[in-house]
Amino acid sequence: MATDCLTDAEIASLRDVPPGAAPGKLAQHLASCDRCQARALFGAARSPGKKREMPALPSLGRALALLAMVVLALLGFFWTLTRLTGPPD
Ligand SMILES: [Zn+2]
Repeated sequence: MATDCLTDAEIASLRDVPPGAAPGKLAQHLASCDRCQARALFGAARSPGKKREMPALPSLGRALALLAMVVLALLGFFWTLTRLTGPPD
């Protein structure tokens, strides 16, 4: 099935038809192909007019700051855990 997957334009055309009205060949492939189902649901070319900008990726600085906060939260959690269980003897 991987050889004759739907094109982005075909998937975009399937989005706009009412349920049950899709062309048989396209609907048949979509029903049996995980890859095209995922593309139809989560991302492929959209029909013109519904185009949206992709959200900007977070900058490296913000990603590192988030990572640092996660590490701090983990350290805090383990520190609290050692206080709760008592110091090792
Ligand atoms: Zn496919």
